[in-house]
Amino acid sequence: MTSHIAFIGLGNMGGPMARNLLKNNFKVTVFDLNQDAVKVLTDQGAQSAETAQAAAKKADVVITMLPSGEIVKSVYLGDDGLIRCVQKDALLIDCSTIAAEDAREVITAAHQHGVGMIDAPVSGGTAAAEAGTLTFICGGDDKDYQAAKPILSAMGKNIFHAGEAGAGQVAKICNNMLLAIHMIGTSEALNMGVSQGLDPEVMSEIMKASSGNNWSLQVYNPYPGVMPNVPASRDYQGGFMVELMNKDLGLAQKLAAQSKAATPLGALSAQLYQLHQNQGGSGLDFSSILQFLQSQS
Ligand code: NAD
Repeated sequence: MTSHIAFIGLGNMGGPMARNLLKNNFKVTVFDLNQDAVKVLTDQGAQSAETAQAAAKKADVVITMLPSGEIVKSVYLGDDGLIRCVQKDALLIDCSTIAAEDAREVITAAHQHGVGMIDAPVSGGTAAAEAGTLTFICGGDDKDYQAAKPILSAMGKNIFHAGEAGAGQVAKICNNMLLAIHMIGTSEALNMGVSQGLDPEVMSEIMKASSGNNWSLQVYNPYPGVMPNVPASRDYQGGFMVELMNKDLGLAQKLAAQSKAATPLGALSAQLYQLHQNQGGSGLDFSSILQFLQSQS
């Protein structure tokens, strides 16, 4: 029998992810505080519900894709939380990027109510969410991971089991710290080359075929006009907002302090993105760090 999925949080990532579930013939009931985001999905065949609880009540699987740990906890925990209102054999999958300790807290609460749950943050950005080629990085019991896999496969290409509850978040935070570092480095290199009169497209091709090659150059070029269909070529709209990158870099610094790991470049990246946010960059895609560097040049 096809699973009935409740999908909560239909933003830049959740919207296209829910759409891919519909494309794969899952029955999907959606909820978001933003009615416009809900309408996009109901126009494509999803059902909607008045509240997150109403969406989750009859579902076999609940997926959340929300901005922060605070919001994830407010949705799952407490007397009106989803953990208390779902069916006993339901599976909960949180795909948001949040602190590992928040993920563990929610998963432990789910287990106390006899409900299975995994953390399953994603990587790949909005283009991969659209294309159904996301990477899922899961933490939790093997039984719950195995049950989630066929559903995650409808939205992603690479599905990893990083370890116990919260392990998906740890791996994801490490990855995003690296992402910030290579996006800043890529932006610095492109900005400097262009200021010397080089063409950003030519520069990008050279670095892609050289030792500076990286994901930001390959699929998410920060220089406007070099690549079609990336946020840099649409005034840094859509994509992965600076405020969300700041959240992740804050989580990375917390994790570094907890584990006593030296992350000087992570710390510097956190400061640069914070400055960019303070100067009005909050709602722009994170590749707009190039614009910030230009403003300082
Ligand atoms: P977004 O801000 O575009 O979307 C979040 C959605 O959640 C919004 O539609 C908002 O209305 C909704 N929402 C907020 N509170 C809610 C609540 N209480 N109940 C129901 N809906 C609620 O964010 P996004 O870019 O889609 O990111 C979502 C998560 O995915 C974040 O944790 C982010 O760090 C992570 N992520 C984002 C990207 C990316 O490229 N955008 C990539 C990987 C991971």
